[in-house]
Amino acid sequence: MSDLGLNSLLIHADDSLARVIDIASPIDVSTTYKYPDDPNDLVPACDKKDFSDRFIYSRFSHPNTERVEKVLEAVFGEGSHVIAYSSGLSSFYAAMTYFSPKTVAIGDGYHGCHGILNILTKNYGLKQIPLDAPEEELQPGDIVHLETPVNPTGISFDIQHYADKAHRRGAYLLVDATFAPPPLQDPFLFGADMVMHSATKYFGGHSDLLAGILVTKDLSIKKKLFEQRLLLGTITGNLESHFLLRSLRTFEIRIKTQSSNATQVVSYLKNNVKKLPIIDEIYHSSLQTEEFVKKQLPIGYGPVFSIKLKSKKAAKHLPSKLRLFHHATSLGGVESLVEWRAMSDPTVEHDLLRFSVGIENVEDLIKDLTNALEQVGKEFL
Ligand SMILES: *Cc1c(COP(=O)(O)O)cnc(C)c1O
Repeated sequence: MSDLGLNSLLIHADDSLARVIDIASPIDVSTTYKYPDDPNDLVPACDKKDFSDRFIYSRFSHPNTERVEKVLEAVFGEGSHVIAYSSGLSSFYAAMTYFSPKTVAIGDGYHGCHGILNILTKNYGLKQIPLDAPEEELQPGDIVHLETPVNPTGISFDIQHYADKAHRRGAYLLVDATFAPPPLQDPFLFGADMVMHSATKYFGGHSDLLAGILVTKDLSIKKKLFEQRLLLGTITGNLESHFLLRSLRTFEIRIKTQSSNATQVVSYLKNNVKKLPIIDEIYHSSLQTEEFVKKQLPIGYGPVFSIKLKSKKAAKHLPSKLRLFHHATSLGGVESLVEWRAMSDPTVEHDLLRFSVGIENVEDLIKDLTNALEQVGKEFL
């Protein structure tokens, strides 16, 4: 299949796993599966050395999660191993369980990952240090956790820089690449040891499922993660995995449209800040000039950007002036969202608005946003 393009892989990479003649994968709800009829085929658990190639119990694996993993392995390319979880945060927790670091270096980013580390600090004394702490503070086996592009701004960080820093100390680099999934960004090219995604966002793409994934280049790590996942009980749900597989079929066309729409919206705003004086600052990878950004995001930028307004009141009121951007948290869906970020992240300033750009017609999005910015400008500036 490696001769196929991404769209073809998204639709066909899992063809060999179809168990019935249905074109759309069935929704499998069973939690348990029959053992072989022939007693000679029964292998007792104590003799099993590897993944079972049969389904046994759905906390271990089930048909649609296996198909999702197969499709995503094609998306991440040659030598990639994917394991799917019940949410982005359960995939982060699984990575922490697997690496079991004594210290994690972490910067800004999704508040839930910080929340998990705080639990680990409270329960087990995990030490947390800033992302840019001196590298001497890292020991072998520790983790540098980098989110790029980062939540909520959509700004990029230099993956290679943090990979080198971690590796000089025998530590590992975990990259949360939720904001720029492939084909936009491949953190492995810049030294990442493991990549996580909230599949709730772009892979799911329809705001109707929770899932997460870890990606590793080492099959033996996937096997260990698999053994731990079946104990943690954090496999993607049966129904969610069906929706996720359905969503993956259109992933490339969605992500490319979202990326292009977001970059056009950002560029329009940037070129028209004089007409929209309420804007204080616009944040997005497309506006960064550092050389690494273009290397990490060679074909397009992530579809999330943020704007800081000159008035907190204007920021609070802006979502109510928009027609096409729903005011809600989350991102990655086909519908555009705006969030007065103070609603869900207790750590951000109240003048910040986060935008997740969908697949609507970009002229409509630009018009909608310009109108709303003009209105709050008149009222609050
Ligand atoms: C949403 C998100 C998560 C958490 O994912 P869930 O699927 O909601 O558990 C983690 N990291 C980033 C960057 C996210 O946007």
